[in-house]
Amino acid sequence: MRRSEPPPSTVRGLSRRRLLKLGLGAAALAGIGSQWAPLSAFAKEVDDFIRGPAVPDITPARLSEHVWMIWSKDGFPTPENQGMMSNITFVVTRDGVVMLDPGGSVQIGEMALRMIRTVTDKPVVAIFNSHYHGDHWLANHAFVDAFGTDLPIHAHPVTKKEIEGVQGSLWHSMMERWTNQATAGTRIVAPNRETNHGDVFRFGDVTLRIHHYGLAHTPGDICIEVVEDQLTHVGDVAMDRRIANMDDGSYVGTFRFYDELEKNAPSRIWVPGHGHASAEVLKWNRELFEGIYQNCVRAVEDGADMASARERVLADPRVASRAADTAGFASNIGKYVSLAYLEAEREAF
Ligand SMILES: [Zn+2]
Repeated sequence: MRRSEPPPSTVRGLSRRRLLKLGLGAAALAGIGSQWAPLSAFAKEVDDFIRGPAVPDITPARLSEHVWMIWSKDGFPTPENQGMMSNITFVVTRDGVVMLDPGGSVQIGEMALRMIRTVTDKPVVAIFNSHYHGDHWLANHAFVDAFGTDLPIHAHPVTKKEIEGVQGSLWHSMMERWTNQATAGTRIVAPNRETNHGDVFRFGDVTLRIHHYGLAHTPGDICIEVVEDQLTHVGDVAMDRRIANMDDGSYVGTFRFYDELEKNAPSRIWVPGHGHASAEVLKWNRELFEGIYQNCVRAVEDGADMASARERVLADPRVASRAADTAGFASNIGKYVSLAYLEAEREAF
């Protein structure tokens, strides 16, 4: 895929390449506070100037009566996919459209909006961000551009705080780097509403119920049950044929989260942030994680080291059977075993 080249002119005498080389890309400049107003205005100019190209359309698929998904075939960001690495889910209600994770850049959000317009002409009336990883929320920008800054953007208090802070700017700049600036022009638009476990939202004919059961994929995950459709959006708490980033997560917490979800949000369809929606998503991910974590627990009990834990994990049929069709498996399994082993050690002592 060819990216459109920026115009050959310069910004106040500095070429785009030179700006990026100086680390003065949109990422660096966007974080500068309002006391630097002239510099901020300059940043805005740079932002507009180096805006990444449009993202190609992906036809949405209908999952249930009210819920649609724009499916992402990739699980990791690259220059070719322009950061399109996670699913975008939206709920069409009588009162308007509700976004459940709008995507990972302003360009991706604009694509989602074009696709929503093929399904309904209703306005977007709310956004939910499932957690603070940028592939799920950086597209908030496109929706406040289209529907105004009063548009409610809901997230768990931890997620809101992290997006306003370190995780927000980290993801903003990393997405630009991973995509070779394809997401440039995206602004950090943090959630403006806090939501938590047990909250219920009514949008016309649709009821959304929020589930949160502590640390799983991150400390601030919310899952959103679309009650009338017996469908639950699980964010990255569970994946399908992908292996989750567990750097901030917990295996034990994830198992507990699944138990509570199955009990309190019985669903015909689980909608993951990565991979396909189905009735089997929690089961698929639970078995993979059990294959990883239980072997690490046993290795710790036996006094075996991490390398031998890894051998046991790879030999486990629950893991081995999933290796071939799980995106990113080979490059990530070592890290996930390490994290599981460290967690098993912490639990043991
Ligand atoms: Zn995530």
